Amino acid sequence: MQITKTVDETRAVVKEWKRQGLTVGLVPTMGFLHEGHASLIERCRQENDRVVVSVFVNPTQFGPNEDLEAYPRDFARDSALCQEKGADLIFHPEPEDMYDDPRAYVSIEGLSDNLCGKSRPIHFRGVCTVVSKLFHIVAPDRAYFGEKDAQQLAIIRKMVKDLNFDLKIVGCPIVREADGLAKSSRNTYLSPAEREAALCLSRSIRRGKEVIGMGMDSQTLLKEMRAVIEAEPLARIDYVSVVDALTMEDVSSINRDVLVAMAVYIGKTRLIDNFSYEI
Ligand code: AMP
Repeated sequence: MQITKTVDETRAVVKEWKRQGLTVGLVPTMGFLHEGHASLIERCRQENDRVVVSVFVNPTQFGPNEDLEAYPRDFARDSALCQEKGADLIFHPEPEDMYDDPRAYVSIEGLSDNLCGKSRPIHFRGVCTVVSKLFHIVAPDRAYFGEKDAQQLAIIRKMVKDLNFDLKIVGCPIVREADGLAKSSRNTYLSPAEREAALCLSRSIRRGKEVIGMGMDSQTLLKEMRAVIEAEPLARIDYVSVVDALTMEDVSSINRDVLVAMAVYIGKTRLIDNFSYEI
């Protein structure tokens, strides 16, 4: 397994693979890898001749009062996991290698306004910008993203379509802890009491899945789901919403494919979870 730090080095490695006619898969990450990331790398390994994992805590997707500095980092552990899962290359740039007084950004209108975009106004612009850069640098045939970040996945699919990126986006299912909590690098922030409290997200998701097929409107569904979270004293809801699966706009009747998504603060830690419902 190779490790590259610069854009030029990375391009040179990929260029040689392409010259040999090999297919390339990319798994973009911010590091501090867990089994959720590992599932993406495994899928990428199955479907491509060469596997690239990017490990980059992308500053442009963090707001001024967010956790950029505190975001957990452990590159030695990440590279051991990538090696074990059969990655061929880790691209691990420094922020200075990726951004030099940037003036170009990629924004996807509409889909970025609701859900996480409401409380994190520049987040998806940062995500789309860094993902576009990674697509240009690595030129992958396929790129792998988790359904855990469902709004991100919908936005990236739309970006690829609208901007004619020549690659396939592969969405991968949410990987959970044995007790139901969706795996996240941010789970490391939780105290033992908060870790217990954080189960209210997956409990609410389970409740939502139970009742969504019963023909109720979205307000009734959301009431049921919010009640589960509101019963937990350490939890504070940012949003619980039912949106159109493609546009990310709120819907009142569940008469089309929808995403049911939530963001909840457990103490100071903001966690997300979701499920999709196809009619
Ligand atoms: P991150 O390092 O948080 O930016 O995540 C990198 C990729 O891993 C994103 O596409 C995430 O959606 C995906 N991912 C993170 N957690 C999970 C999980 N629990 N299950 C599946 N995919 C995940």
